[in-house]
Formats: sequence, structure tokens, C-alpha cells
Amino acid sequence: MNTQLRKVKTIIEPTPVVEGAGVRLKRSLGGEKLNYLDPFLLFDHFGSPNAADYQAGFPMHPHRGIETVTYMLAGEVEHRDTLGNAGRIGAGDVQWMTAGGGILHEEMPKVRPEGNEGFQLWVNLPAKLKMSQPRYQDISSEEIPVVKTKDGVNIRVIAGNVGGTEGAVTGIAAGPTYLDVFIPPGRSFTQTIPQGHTAFAYVFEGKASFVEDPEGTQKLVPQPNLVVWEDGDIVKILTGEEPIRLLMISAKPLGEQIARYGPFVMNTKDEIEQALLDLKQGTFIWQERVGR
Ligand code: MN
Repeated sequence: MNTQLRKVKTIIEPTPVVEGAGVRLKRSLGGEKLNYLDPFLLFDHFGSPNAADYQAGFPMHPHRGIETVTYMLAGEVEHRDTLGNAGRIGAGDVQWMTAGGGILHEEMPKVRPEGNEGFQLWVNLPAKLKMSQPRYQDISSEEIPVVKTKDGVNIRVIAGNVGGTEGAVTGIAAGPTYLDVFIPPGRSFTQTIPQGHTAFAYVFEGKASFVEDPEGTQKLVPQPNLVVWEDGDIVKILTGEEPIRLLMISAKPLGEQIARYGPFVMNTKDEIEQALLDLKQGTFIWQERVGR
């Protein structure tokens, strides 16, 4: 089989931003450096031991036309939405929320001795699903399959497929892969990523070399950095004296026009205007528009 290693296209150092009601976080997609990596609209890493950096949280706010994916490493976030879901997500848990035609929700971190840390990814929806029924998948840590290789590599399969092990999150339009990968020191790790899919890694612990060709050309990437890969079938990462922990995320690009305004991402400016109008008129959430 003729496989092609994916080369490193760009390395993005996260930018500090303040979001919600005053949450300090590190943004590497959806900001000034790379606004859109089709179909990914945003990638934020939140994390602080200091309550002042996170406790203001994200009070009730709308979303339309996208999916928001929250993966927690530490602490807890209390949430509630107009679908009737309410609860807490803690370390290792995932919330995959398909906003579709319209949802309002709040995401409020709880003050904990261990602080609060995790990631939020926004995945774009294709035009035909932008006004679809909202959907919510709440996956607890123990429901996420873990693949351990003989080399001691540990992979939490949130979405996608690793050697026949199917991820916990299913039925998502973009066919995403979302892996949390730990590689011990002095190891080599390869993973196939479907050709044509947009792919990136987010390094959040340690450092490692990303191998780019059979001759062994490589780029050393320390945390925290986001690596965008070029197209190909396979990625290869070598660790040195330090272990590495990273997220590996990929999905099918949409190739559609986007109109973006804060928490709404549609195809046209008119659809954004409609979202703002719906919000003003109290007809924003999906349930209220049935039959219209
Ligand atoms: Mn939100």
C-alpha cells in the first residue's frame, strides 16, 4: 500500500483572549491567526487554577448553524439549555452539542481546588443541516473507549475509529475523528487520517517531533501549539525524552460559503440577519419555529 505522510502545514501558537462573561482562554482557531479551518470554526483551550480566570463563565447565549464540542480535563462545568438538558460535565467528559436551527444554553464553571481546564471546538454544519433539530450528546468519561498499544500509547477515542475501536460520539455529519493521545518518551506513533479530511493536532503537554517524510524530516512541537497538517493518509509522531499529550482532530471539509457572526454561523448574510431578528422576536429556538 502506498501511504503518504502528512506534512506540517502551519504551527499556530494560541492567542490569549477573554470570552463569555470574562473567561481567560487560549485561542488557536477562529481568531486572528486562522479564522476558519474548514469545517472547524474555533478551537479554545481554557484552563486556570485561579477562580477569577474562569468563574464568570458563559451565561445564557444562543448558537445556530454549528456544533460545539466541550472536552473537560479538570474541574466541572454546570450547563443548562433550551432542549431541557441540565447537568454537570467533569474531568474526561464530553458534551457534543448540535445547535442546528437554534439553541440557548449556559456553561458555568464551578470553582474547584483543582481549577478548571478543557477544550471547546466548534464544528460547522453543512447548509442542509443548519436549521435542523438540535441534538445533544452527553458522554461520561467511562463511556469513552481507550486503546492502549504495546508501546504504551494511550488513546481515548472520543470520535472516529482507531484500529477497529469506534468512538463514543456517533452520527455527526462531518465524520469527525477526535482523539486524546498520550505517547510515552522514546516512542513512535502513527495514525491514519482519511485522505481529503482536514486534520490538526493540539499539543497540550510535553513535546514531540512530527515526521514529514520517509527520510525522517521532522518538526519539533512543544506545548501549547496547534499543528495543521497538509493532506495525506497517515501522521507520524516521535517522542524524545519527554512524553507528549495531544488532541488529534479531523473531519471532512464542507467547501461551502460561510457567514459568521459570533455564535451564529450560516451561509449568507441574510441568514445572519434572520438569526438576529429571530432572537429579537423570541422565535429563535428550534421548537418555536416548528411548522413555520
Ligand atoms: Mn456555547
